[in-house]
Amino acid sequence: MIRHKVIDALIDNTMGTCQGLEHHLEGFGMELDDLSMEELVYIDDAIFECGCCGWWYDLASISDMVDQETVCTRCVEDGDYEI
Ligand SMILES: [Zn+2]
Repeated sequence: MIRHKVIDALIDNTMGTCQGLEHHLEGFGMELDDLSMEELVYIDDAIFECGCCGWWYDLASISDMVDQETVCTRCVEDGDYEI
């Protein structure tokens, strides 16, 4: 079961920030453990944490995946990340 109202708001809040899901869950009075497997997968399909800068973006901003690290387009464009 996915609590769309909460999870969609969580995704909105997390996207474009450098704070982790835990931080944003606090605003809902929740913890990571409160999320179901389906909800985690749903979040995974919507946003990702850049392995280089640590900011969260939507999946359209994925530049590449190297060594299991997902890196945002901004890091690659800025030359912060060498592929
Ligand atoms: Zn980045």
